[in-house]
Parts: sequence; C-alpha cells; structure tokens
Amino acid sequence: MSLTTYKKKRNFKSTSEPVGGTSNRGKLNFVIQKHDATRLHYDFRLEMDGVLKSWAVPKGPSTDPAVKRLAMMVEDHPYDYKNFEGIIPEGNYGAGTVIIWDKGTYEPIEPVKGKKAQEKHLLKQLKEGSVKIILHGEKLRGEWALVHTKQSENSWLLIKHKDKFASSAEVTNKSKSVVSGITLLQLEKSAGSKNGSPKKAVKKVAPKKASPTAKKSLTLTSKKKVNS
Ligand code: MN
Repeated sequence: MSLTTYKKKRNFKSTSEPVGGTSNRGKLNFVIQKHDATRLHYDFRLEMDGVLKSWAVPKGPSTDPAVKRLAMMVEDHPYDYKNFEGIIPEGNYGAGTVIIWDKGTYEPIEPVKGKKAQEKHLLKQLKEGSVKIILHGEKLRGEWALVHTKQSENSWLLIKHKDKFASSAEVTNKSKSVVSGITLLQLEKSAGSKNGSPKKAVKKVAPKKASPTAKKSLTLTSKKKVNS
C-alpha cells in the first residue's frame, strides 16, 4: 500500500481523518468529497487495491459530455476516508470543511466479473492513463472516464460519457451531503457554534440575528467560493 505520503502530511493527534481501513465488501466503492480548504474543490476517490485512488477536481464533476473537468491526481487515501465528513482543524494539512457529496459503488465499463478481477483491470487502465467506469452514486450515475493528459504527470480529465444519465444541468448545484443532508456552510456554522468559529469568513459575515438579508450574504459568500 502506498499511504506513506498521506500519513506524512498529517498529524493524527490533531485531525480526526482516518488512518487506514480494510475493504471487505463485494463491490468497489467510490466517494466524492466536497472540500473547502484553501480553495474549494471536489475530491474524487476510487477504491482500488485496498486504498482510494484520488483526484482533486477544482470545478467538480460535470454531467455534460462536452465539458471536461481538470482532475489533479493526489496521493492515495486510506479506505476509511470514504466515510470522512467533518472539520480538519486549522494548522493541519487540508484544513477546512469536508462533506460526502456523493458515494456509491462503481465498476469498469468493460464487463469484468468479481472484485479482484475488476481491480486488476482498473489498475491496468490507471497505469495506461485511461480509466473507464460506471458510477452507481446518488448524484452521479452512468459512464465516466478519467483520462491522463500530457500537460503534467498529475493532470487528468474527468469526462462524462454520452448515455441516459448525461445532462447539461449543473450537478454541482446540488450542494448537500448524501450522508448528513447538510451543506459545507451548515457544517462550518455548526462547528462555529460548538467550538468557536473555525473560519474567519464566517465570523465576519455571521449576523447577530438571522435576518433574510444576512442569509443572502452568506449564500453569496459561498457562491463566490465555488467560482474561485
Ligand atoms: Mn481535498
């Protein structure tokens, strides 16, 4: 396993992010986490070889086959990371809020039976720079491809294939966690009320009394981040 980089970057005494985990289900899992760190991005993770192969997608996935989204490959994450939703405290790597934006099982497009054989097939595709998969998520379904580009060692493109799940509707407008039903902003606010606000931006914007105007300004703040 290749979790050395992951572990090196983190201090597990001060972050509640998972350290390991063992896959034991009959199907391969995927997760997409929406992560508001230095910059808002989506972390696209595919279970392969006992870990989560991971890409940071700055703009998030698009269900429009005409739109190719940049996906920067990052270090493998431990299997249990697929269940992580919460706050990475200030001062830690990736400090900020994380929600589970989508999750489910996935498989190769080519009909390969059995998890072991599927993983072998996918690892070969990964090495070749073209991973073709079917996602069975709550927000994302159908055929997708991750294609390595020649731009840099880590740059890939996330592309929706044309099928009945393709749509020009902006899927990232769906902003809630598929696990808790909350948005990143709600997570940030709930943390603020418990331990003091973890983010200065919230402190500055948060009103003393909830008023419609104040709510509007919070929404605008979050929208602004999405575009950055
Ligand atoms: Mn991230």
